[in-house]
Amino acid sequence: MKKNNTENKKYKALGIMGGTFDPIHYGHLVTAEEARCQFNLDVVVFVPSGKPPHKKDYRVSDAKHRYLMTVLAVVTNPFFDVSRIEIDREGYSYTIDTVKAFRKKYPWSEIFFITGADAILEILTWKKVEEIMDHCRFIAATRPGYNLSDLDKKFKAILPEYSNRVETIEVPALAISSTDIRRRVAMDKSIKYLVPEAVEQYIWKNNLYKS
Ligand code: NAP
Repeated sequence: MKKNNTENKKYKALGIMGGTFDPIHYGHLVTAEEARCQFNLDVVVFVPSGKPPHKKDYRVSDAKHRYLMTVLAVVTNPFFDVSRIEIDREGYSYTIDTVKAFRKKYPWSEIFFITGADAILEILTWKKVEEIMDHCRFIAATRPGYNLSDLDKKFKAILPEYSNRVETIEVPALAISSTDIRRRVAMDKSIKYLVPEAVEQYIWKNNLYKS
């Protein structure tokens, strides 16, 4: 299947799908597709984080594995692409550096940063938040059971002057979580239908999440 050419700088709107993707699962894929359709995005570029600054005390799988699983997961969607920008960058992966790089490459495009609502609620701990907000809008994906109006109130409380830059989408498929998948693999339980088949095979073949 023909992939979109992300060298095309004439996108009206593009999505950056930011996450650790340890591993990527159907919840992430449905989130990206839902965001693409709701916000008329020309392309969604998945950006696996290289060295997440907020996970210094956690074990995160090698960036090479997370990147390859992401590539395997998006291959059948011509509107999806994957960027190595964060995994190739030295040091911690700060969203501001990624957003600025996309802004430089796509000066005329509207940029949406798509990620989990829980991650966005921590945004005050991120580096140069206001500068990020000046470059892009956010799409916060929620898991089932989230109270959306409560979420809007929280965003208003955190960043009153930028709260209109944050959109929310409800994604029932986000009942799936990477944490649960890692736990299931460690217990030798099936992960079929939670991740694309190629990702499932990659996980078993490379002995990921066993300890
Ligand atoms: P996280 O803290 O591991 O995840 C928080 C929640 O959001 C989890 O429930 C997670 O579910 C979900 N989530 C994460 N990415 C998602 C996505 N793309 N779509 C839907 N749900 C998602 O968050 P993270 O993955 O490490 O980071 C999210 C993004 O924020 C990354 O791009 C990261 O670089 C950025 N970030 C930047 C800074 C900074 O610049 N200082 C700091 C923190 C985060 P799953 O576990 O199932 O994915």
